[in-house]
Amino acid sequence: TKFTDLGLAEPLVKALAAKNYTVPTPIQAQAIPPLLEGRDLCGIAQTGTGKTAAFALPSLQYFLENPKPRPQQGCRMLVLSPTRELASQIADSFRDYARFMRVSVETVFGGVPINRQIAKLRAGVDVLVATPGRLLDLIDQRALSLRDVEIFVLDEADQMLDLGFIHALKRIDKLLPAKRHSLFFSATMPKPIAELGDRFLRDPVRVAV
Ligand code: AMP
Repeated sequence: TKFTDLGLAEPLVKALAAKNYTVPTPIQAQAIPPLLEGRDLCGIAQTGTGKTAAFALPSLQYFLENPKPRPQQGCRMLVLSPTRELASQIADSFRDYARFMRVSVETVFGGVPINRQIAKLRAGVDVLVATPGRLLDLIDQRALSLRDVEIFVLDEADQMLDLGFIHALKRIDKLLPAKRHSLFFSATMPKPIAELGDRFLRDPVRVAV
């Protein structure tokens, strides 16, 4: 399989060509077609497998097909990451894949002053990559609402649980619109993580690499 066989739009194909990526990784080959059809996805995959592009490319295609203004103090896509390092990496990848599009990508995470984050959320963003604790702080300060989220990604679910984010994730789940696309990734899928996934997903396609 080549990327051009997967049905990706021109700006994404060009961005991949600019990175010299021609062949999708296994997670990309399995995840991109059902995601382009709008399915939810539960993926067992580790970092390094190319899973960021597996969820970034179909999401960016959704933005191309469904243009909409950025929601004030909100976002159209929320990606939750357990650590700020991973959040920054995900945001960098998104910006790379979106280089031929007009998509705003921002990160919010703890350990840095919150005021700049409040300011950058005011006009709204397309893609927000966040750690759970700081996301809830911003919501509690009325700087952010999740009511406009159309695509929700929970990355590294097993690490989330190890880091004690379970309560935060359940709160975030209640704040997300019921009608949305959801993607859930974990390196391992023991029972508590599968149960967490069931809470977020609707009739998901399951892929493992
Ligand atoms: P990830 O698992 O998303 O952190 O990606 C791991 C690394 O593989 C990153 O440096 C990506 O830029 C790179 N990568 C992702 N997809 C491809 C691909 N199809 N071909 C070559 N490299 C890729």
